[in-house]
Amino acid sequence: MYSVVAESCIDMLYRCRNVVHIKQVHAHMIANGKLQDLVFANKLLYTYVQHKAMDDAYYLFDGMTMRDPTTWSLMVGGFAKIGDYGNCYATFREVLRCGVSPDNYTLPFVIRTCRDRKDLRTGQAIHGAVLKYGLQMDHFVCASLVDMYAKCMLIEDAQRLFDGMPSKDLVTWTVMIGAYADCNAYESLVLFDRMREEGLVPDKVAMVTVVNACAKLGAMHRARSVNEYIVRNSFPLDVFLGTAMIDMYAKCGSVECAREVFDRMKEKNVISWSAMIAAYGYHGKGKEAIDLFNMMLSCSIFPNRVTFVSLLYACSHSGLIEEGLRFFNSMWEEHAVRPDVKHYTCMVDLLGRAGRLDEAVKLIEAMAVEKDERLWSALIGACRIHGNMELAEEAANSLLELQPQNPGHYVLLSNIYAKAGKWEKVAKFRDMMTRRKLKKVPGWTWIEVDNETYQFSVGDRSHPRSKEIYEMLMSLIKKLEVAGYVPDTDFVLHDVEEEVKQEMLYTHSEKLAIAFGLIAIPEGDPIRISKNLRVCGDCHTFSKMVSAVMRRSIIVRDANRFHHFNEGTCSCGDYW
Ligand code: ZN
Ligand code: ZN
Repeated sequence: MYSVVAESCIDMLYRCRNVVHIKQVHAHMIANGKLQDLVFANKLLYTYVQHKAMDDAYYLFDGMTMRDPTTWSLMVGGFAKIGDYGNCYATFREVLRCGVSPDNYTLPFVIRTCRDRKDLRTGQAIHGAVLKYGLQMDHFVCASLVDMYAKCMLIEDAQRLFDGMPSKDLVTWTVMIGAYADCNAYESLVLFDRMREEGLVPDKVAMVTVVNACAKLGAMHRARSVNEYIVRNSFPLDVFLGTAMIDMYAKCGSVECAREVFDRMKEKNVISWSAMIAAYGYHGKGKEAIDLFNMMLSCSIFPNRVTFVSLLYACSHSGLIEEGLRFFNSMWEEHAVRPDVKHYTCMVDLLGRAGRLDEAVKLIEAMAVEKDERLWSALIGACRIHGNMELAEEAANSLLELQPQNPGHYVLLSNIYAKAGKWEKVAKFRDMMTRRKLKKVPGWTWIEVDNETYQFSVGDRSHPRSKEIYEMLMSLIKKLEVAGYVPDTDFVLHDVEEEVKQEMLYTHSEKLAIAFGLIAIPEGDPIRISKNLRVCGDCHTFSKMVSAVMRRSIIVRDANRFHHFNEGTCSCGDYW
């Protein structure tokens, strides 16, 4: 039984609103000898920690003659909470040194600190301590280790621990699903299904994670079923979930579905508006993006940097030059948003595509912000379209200076030289890549058929229906040739015979995927594919012609944007 004085001490601590109050209670407790009681001392310590007064907490802690695991855990957690990682680790080391066995309160604090700092080395050392003290089966400890490994990108370690957990709660499942969403979106969705099979009901955080995984994968059928699930279980479409869904539908190829979600959202913030503007941009719908931007202004939502990147991107990818220039100039003058390198990149892209290379160069020269690789890539892209070799070379050298280890840049430059027939330069760059041990990123194309995702690489013969696919491809090429298709061998890097080049071109992963789509996807349904690199010029022409000759709409998501091929034309207007 506590005495009346003691009770009032606890009450007083509860009522403390600031550190001055706590110090008064502290003094009162000293006067009444209450600090000799560990329960009271811990309560006081807890109150200091709650108010983030770690100096005072430490002063109290330092003078305590008795400490229990709660005392230590409060100190470790308190330092973690204020971001004082040095003291957090040091206190934890002290715990081990004093022979106190760490408990399932203290450990998660330290492990989460490692996670936030991506400090794998300390994390692994703590994992060692966990094993030493036999806490590996503790739910809280194990869940925080899974989280730590996942955030540090050691997905296999995370998975191993996760598999060994006797019971997994929703938070831990969500951590794993989220970890896979970053590196293997397909696996992420598999896990989500497994979680539901085990009877767990996802919450909003889990749903946002799954929606992001669908966006990464670009898998339309999954997007639809996730949407159905959300509607059926009446998840409120707040700004987080709604915005993630806009992005998901946009990346799965349906700007209409994205807009539907956008219209259904009761509450929208600047991020939701920007996401919808970006969705229009991806799909080459510049005019719709501008309309939405104006609507946003009339709703008194203030645009930010992200909004302008989306808007300028939309203008550039729809060839809306004057509008783009006008918005760019209005950024600072009317909206007090300072352009950064991303905005400049959009502008270089916009001017460059229109052939206004001089203006693009002037803009770059006048830039006050630091230049990055995307900026130079945009200029090079424009030079390639307009055949300005000199400028391309200059820009490429700036790019290589900035990022000598990126193989994509060498490929880009080699392509420019190949187009100009300068094979000795092509050879020089190929040589440089070999010497610097750089490998070209392999191209992959994915296609969804009957709720399955199939993957193709160039010249791929691993598909079980490979024979049919090649037959379809060859008959397709014959049909296209009748319609005037001439393979553009400029897009083959190698200095080889024309005939061999053609063969390589014919088996680009996009073409294989499209051929498979024509065999396996019912007539009338669009063929949706995604590619990890930019679509090449020849595959672009090929897709346009297939859409006309076979009367099929083809939707391609490449590394940069969406292409909707219909009746012989592409939504990008051959600008990409
Ligand atoms: Zn290609
Ligand atoms: Zn296109």
